[in-house]
Amino acid sequence: PRTPDRKPNWLRVKAPISREYGETRRLMRSLKLNTVCEEAACPNIGECWSQRHATVMILGDTCTRACAFCNIKTGLPNPVDPDEPAHVAEACADMGLKHIVITSVDRDDLPDGGAQHFVRVIEALRRSSPETTIEILTPDFRHKPGAIETVAEARPDVFNHNLETVPRLYPTIRPGARYFHSLRLLQRVKEVAPDVFTKSGIMAGLGEQRLEVQQVMDDMRSADIDFLTIGQYLQPTKRHAPVARYVSPDEFADYERLARSKGFLMVSASPLTRSSYHAGDDFEKLRAA
Ligand code: SF4
Ligand code: SF4
Repeated sequence: PRTPDRKPNWLRVKAPISREYGETRRLMRSLKLNTVCEEAACPNIGECWSQRHATVMILGDTCTRACAFCNIKTGLPNPVDPDEPAHVAEACADMGLKHIVITSVDRDDLPDGGAQHFVRVIEALRRSSPETTIEILTPDFRHKPGAIETVAEARPDVFNHNLETVPRLYPTIRPGARYFHSLRLLQRVKEVAPDVFTKSGIMAGLGEQRLEVQQVMDDMRSADIDFLTIGQYLQPTKRHAPVARYVSPDEFADYERLARSKGFLMVSASPLTRSSYHAGDDFEKLRAA
């Protein structure tokens, strides 16, 4: 299969030029912070950064896994930066964020997969910006006993871990991971910290069938997952998995209706939806409701 040559109109986005975009970039550079916005070549960077909303990627810029859809560098990562929690807290305060999303690369090389570092970041943020709500998007912590519990006990407001795709496509798209492990991870978060919202997401356009997506939604609800995101997969480079097809906005709207009928508290399904796209606005709406 080959990615279709032309991107449909609904995926065309404005170039990232604004004063706020430049300021966000400078702040991240000066604090030596990586963002998933840049590393994953997110199409929403112009819009998000112009609103001074960026998703910080902790634990370095190099991942120990190599998922077929992901643009993050793979290899042997550098040692963890002990100043990173303080830098994340400074960026959050400087940007005056009401809601912050923190993600990371996968660190299979660390004994705890980076769990304690997540905790340190959460604690630093709580100290410096006590009003800010914290959303974390974590790796799967496979083979790291106690890691999920450690992070859940630090009580982020939202704990996100993406299932990424339907189980049939795991061997080609997410070979280092296991579908039921990821599902269980989120269920475990609810057991340890029932007051923390759980969130997950999948990409559309990798060859999944509607019935399979429906099954994933049911599995997520059985694991008590609260929020769901579904967005179009885009091929970062020719070396990555091809796009099987561009899913139309109407089909996304259908997924959104379906998900709401299954009882998710928050659903975002659209071509440009990403885990962290408008995450703060959605969370605020939910709390106001
Ligand atoms: Fe960054 Fe998320 Fe916005 Fe993409 S959607 S630019 S990853 S904050
Ligand atoms: Fe990318 Fe995450 Fe896979 Fe690493 S584990 S390659 S960061 S999707």
